[in-house]
Amino acid sequence: MNEFECIEKYFAPLSAAAEGALGLKDDAFIMSPKAGHQVVVSKDIISENIHFTFDLDSHSGEKIEPAYVARKLLRGNLSDMAAMGAKPKYYLLGVLWNHTVNEAWIESFVSGLAEDQKHFGVTLVGGDTVKREDGRISLSMTVIGEVKKDHALKRSGAKVGDKIYVTGTIGDGALGLLAFRGAVKGLTREQRDFLVERYHLPEPRHEVMAKLAEAGVVSAAIDVSDGLMADIDHVLAASKVGATIDRSAIPLSHAAADSLKHDTKLWDVVLSGGDDYEVAFTVPADKAKEMEALAKEQGTPVTCIGKITAGKELEVLDAEGKPYSPDRRGYRHF
Ligand code: ADP
Ligand code: MG
Repeated sequence: MNEFECIEKYFAPLSAAAEGALGLKDDAFIMSPKAGHQVVVSKDIISENIHFTFDLDSHSGEKIEPAYVARKLLRGNLSDMAAMGAKPKYYLLGVLWNHTVNEAWIESFVSGLAEDQKHFGVTLVGGDTVKREDGRISLSMTVIGEVKKDHALKRSGAKVGDKIYVTGTIGDGALGLLAFRGAVKGLTREQRDFLVERYHLPEPRHEVMAKLAEAGVVSAAIDVSDGLMADIDHVLAASKVGATIDRSAIPLSHAAADSLKHDTKLWDVVLSGGDDYEVAFTVPADKAKEMEALAKEQGTPVTCIGKITAGKELEVLDAEGKPYSPDRRGYRHF
């Protein structure tokens, strides 16, 4: 199977819903943006042995299917749309493959994309395919979304007195990776599997965030991909404000709460670990009720964890009101 047969057989069917993709038989996608809207674009790259591994995991002995990697790549991108309050519509795919990629690999990868693009209502509209024998696999995705004009959410809009909210539960992603490696004690098999699943398949929050953005009830937002503290720090820097977070208000899954009971050091993982793909966002106090009602309509749990202050720092208070500072604040590539 050559490059063009591969595109025609595996990728073109994923583009069927977008007329402007021209069946992936032309050089580029022709987009027709919706009137009164702005186009929002973002890109991610993931690379073997940094973001995922296809080798047998040395601790769990498990192998990760390419379908999972494809779905996580897509979901991570959708999470960026969530942070902007945008509705994702299209995506482009860049693949750098190596000698390990055979047709079974491609079938698995494409089946993962097919499943999630149907689930989330997005369509593949283009990409690029490169294969070389040596080196590690890299995968890149660009997602294209739309937002009502001037309604995109930014990191820079937080104001003193705003409430800080998060969607879903925090810490499951990073705990899931640790659990996958067998490094979390005292979990039942179900709890371990729950956390590992949360790591492999995060739940992007673009639907609820698009609704909240359109309603104008959010002042700033960011997705929690590098770690709660590090990501909230980005909002504070962009908005030139400080914040206080009440550690005991942070929403936890049962599995995360149980692992913290066994090992309170794991608070560092909850506060600074990445891979949750939830959204942290700020809401003017007088819009909090309206926001909560809208989130409920969408079936998305949201929890107030603190407030924006006039300071410059992010202060985390533990259950006794004492300042808590973790050993590290978040993931950095370099
Ligand atoms: P070029 O050589 O001009 O860069 P290609 O021949 O690589 O273009 O691509 C032909 C068509 O196939 C284009 O529409 C491109 O967007 C699409 N395409 C190539 N690789 C992929 C991929 N991995 N996923 C989706 N579409 C792809
Ligand atoms: Mg071309």
